[in-house]
Parts: sequence; structure tokens; C-alpha cells
Amino acid sequence: MDVAPGIYSLGNRQGGHVHAYLLDDGQGITVIDSLMAADAHLILAELARIGRAPTDIKHLIMTHAHRSHLGGLARLKELSGAPIYAHEWEADIIAADRVAQPVSSRPWRPVRTYPLQLALNLNLSKHPPVRVDEYVHEGDRIGPLTVLFAPGHSPGHLAFYWPERRALIAGDAVCTWPVFMLGWRGFMLNVRQHKASVRRLAKLDSEIVCSGHGDPLAAGGASRIRAALPELDRLA
Ligand SMILES: [Zn+2]
Ligand SMILES: [Zn+2]
Repeated sequence: MDVAPGIYSLGNRQGGHVHAYLLDDGQGITVIDSLMAADAHLILAELARIGRAPTDIKHLIMTHAHRSHLGGLARLKELSGAPIYAHEWEADIIAADRVAQPVSSRPWRPVRTYPLQLALNLNLSKHPPVRVDEYVHEGDRIGPLTVLFAPGHSPGHLAFYWPERRALIAGDAVCTWPVFMLGWRGFMLNVRQHKASVRRLAKLDSEIVCSGHGDPLAAGGASRIRAALPELDRLA
């Protein structure tokens, strides 16, 4: 799906409507996250649709190391040879040297996310492991993007901003499925950090917001996030 020129969104119902994004800045393709499926078929099909080949991928970026975002990464690496970027805290999970820190088993709204929460809590689903090539930090540049360290959902959770397009790639700090929410409470590993991260993202002048779960917002992104900030205050 075309979000804006050079910004493509893809996902299906798998992994809690998890979404990945392809960015084309004219220099090459940047892929953010890799969906559930190990064969990366949705990402490869989208590349073909926009007339690009896997070898046009210049950067493979991970927002964080939760299972539904990791599935196609090893396959994309194999086909493209592009460097994989993630925060250091997430990298050994991506390499399967360590399992992800379990999320709570306590049910939280939205209830439709609970099967996914439980699967993550029990570490039921494995991903094809792969090594991260570069650890990234706040303020780094990758392709057209500036890295924003946005922990809370997970300790090494990253968001990204493309200033020329006023596009925020928010990872799981913002979800639009099954309803618009500033993150899913049941998945947050550190609520205090998450609140601070989202408040910071809300200050950006973003028009487009690409969410980790659910379709992206093509317009009005920052105002939508700001309007929902009181919901964060109620989180504990
Ligand atoms: Zn997550
Ligand atoms: Zn997620």
C-alpha cells in the first residue's frame, strides 16, 4: 500500500496486523521490520510491485526484537546482503543468543491482542536467527532516517524520523489496530520509559505515522498522537 511517494506499508492479519515499511529515497530501499513469515513473501511481492529487486535493499532496520517483526529478516539478508541495524539490547535476541524478555501474562485491553501477548509471554514461536551488523543509537542517520531511541515497549526499542517527508516510523510505540492506541499496555516492558518516549515522539511535526501494528496514518499523525496523550497518563 502506498502511504505517500516513496513510503510503502505492508502487512496482513498475522502477528496482530504487524506492519513493515519500505522507504525509497531515490538512493535505494530501506526496509523497516520484516513481518511474521520466514519467507518474507509480502515484502518481496511489494518490492516487485514497485519495480525493485531485493538487491536494491540498502538497509534492513529493526525497531525491536519481538517475534512478529523478525520473521523475514534472515531471508531478506540472504537475498540482499544489506546491513542489519538494531539497538544493541535487541541484537542478541535477533541472533537467538537470548530469548526476548517475557511480557506480562496479565490480560490487558485490547483483548484481541491477548493471544499474541500470551504467545510472546511463553516464547512459543521462534524466528530464523540472523546477526545484526550495526548497533545504532539516538541521532544516527540510516538512509533518509534519523534514529530516535524510544525505549519502554522494549529496552532497545527504536523509532525513526524522515524529516523531509514528516514521516515518523513509530514501531510499537503507536498501534492503530484494533483501535488507535499509544502502544499496547500488555506488551510494555517499562511503562515509565514508554510514556516518556511517546511524549517525545508527540513533539515531532509528523504528518505520516507508520505504526507497528495496523495501517499507518497518512495525515494528521502528530495531532492524533497529541490528542491521545491523556490516555498515557492513565497507564500504570
Ligand atoms: Zn513489540
Ligand atoms: Zn509488535
